[in-house]
Amino acid sequence: MSFRRVPSIIGLVLLAAAPPTLGQAAGPARSGDIATAYRAPADSLIRAATADSSAYRRLGRLVDTFGPRLSGTASLEAAIDWILDAMKADGLENVRGEPVMVPRWVRGAESAELVKPRAAKLAMMGLGGSVATPKAGITAPVLVVGSLDELARRAAEAKGRIVLFDVPLTDYVVTRRVRTEGPSAAARVGAVACLIRSVASASIRSPHTGQTVYDSTVAKIPAAALSVEDAMMLHRFQDRGERAVVTLKMSARTLPDAPSRNVVAEIVGREKPDEVVVLGGHLDSWDVGQGAMDDGGGSVAAWEAVRLIHRLGLRPRRTVRVVLWTNEENGGKGALAYRDAHAADLPRHVLAMESDNGAFNPKGYVLAGSDSAAAVVQQVAGLMQPINATGVQRADESPAADITPLGEAGVATMEIDTEGSRYFWYHHSDGDTLDKLDPGELARCVAALAVMAYVVADLPDALPHSAAAPESP
Ligand SMILES: [Zn+2]
Repeated sequence: MSFRRVPSIIGLVLLAAAPPTLGQAAGPARSGDIATAYRAPADSLIRAATADSSAYRRLGRLVDTFGPRLSGTASLEAAIDWILDAMKADGLENVRGEPVMVPRWVRGAESAELVKPRAAKLAMMGLGGSVATPKAGITAPVLVVGSLDELARRAAEAKGRIVLFDVPLTDYVVTRRVRTEGPSAAARVGAVACLIRSVASASIRSPHTGQTVYDSTVAKIPAAALSVEDAMMLHRFQDRGERAVVTLKMSARTLPDAPSRNVVAEIVGREKPDEVVVLGGHLDSWDVGQGAMDDGGGSVAAWEAVRLIHRLGLRPRRTVRVVLWTNEENGGKGALAYRDAHAADLPRHVLAMESDNGAFNPKGYVLAGSDSAAAVVQQVAGLMQPINATGVQRADESPAADITPLGEAGVATMEIDTEGSRYFWYHHSDGDTLDKLDPGELARCVAALAVMAYVVADLPDALPHSAAAPESP
């Protein structure tokens, strides 16, 4: 998953292009200082990151060997073991798996078939967390609606029907409400099952999964995504006054929670080891494709960034910590476990970065933090001129899911801002495989993460927390 919004990032304002005033009160570093002091290490990191395709090769090894990595599966845990060993071999410090209990949902066999007006197999994929149908399936006429509001208006027609939400993707945060809330909204008005149009910006008849969230006050009904094409066809039948009838069969189960781990490794700071810059991605994925784009690429980019800082012999003042969260997709339990395990240390977390928008070509950074933090970040971003990734946009809340609990605790949070046009072509589908990423683009993401993490960890003064945050000690 990711918080990317399409086509534009709402709630962000472009930071004014003018550099901050020199000598600003409480400014941790003046404009010229960062450019002068950090040009050489930044250039070294950029050169090292873009010199070869090591990140891409590592990502290929990860996703081809272990495949998709849904929470609670042996493949996720085997991938975690492999990464922990590799991080130790890289020479990173304090390499460990921090325990997390995660939900365990199993898809099982599933299908959807059009029964009337003609027989046809539909391209479907059950939504994460869905319950099963009875063994014989559910066969019912379909009511197509274009929004949650339209369902409310046509509630009287929904009883005994399979409700299909045919809602095109506009803004991910808005459109995914149909996926999370649609099934319970349909159940509330008497529907027997719920289908949604895949949350996708392009389709070659590929269904896209994602988590649904049942409201505990209504019956749980089976829920699945149809391909964009099949959803549109069912809508056309209805528009022509032909009644579509569908048989939905699903055998999904929710098993007891299972143990997993957040992967953590560090370069311990040389002067202020208790102050921490976090960077990472989420290692879990949906159970389809390879989870290469979402979020194998972000995870490997963060890991490689820290490996390169170490390999170049750069030991910043503060600790740089890579965190590969577990269970972002269907629970967010890894993010909560990290926050809880490090609660006492959060006032000394100076920045938390996540890459979870697809490791495509980086344009810069999206920051949720104070004005004074933004002034510093903009200067650091200026060091990315060699790969043209100097942009700084500001968000009013954490730009990525796993760092949201840290942002709520006052830590400045950041996502690298990547070129996003292809992300929702592949998101949560069988198409999320290694070939969708580009070695050069991934390498530039590594550079963007490495430079920001190293410089912020090394600045003489800590990046300030948000105004509303607990005070730093
Ligand atoms: Zn993701």
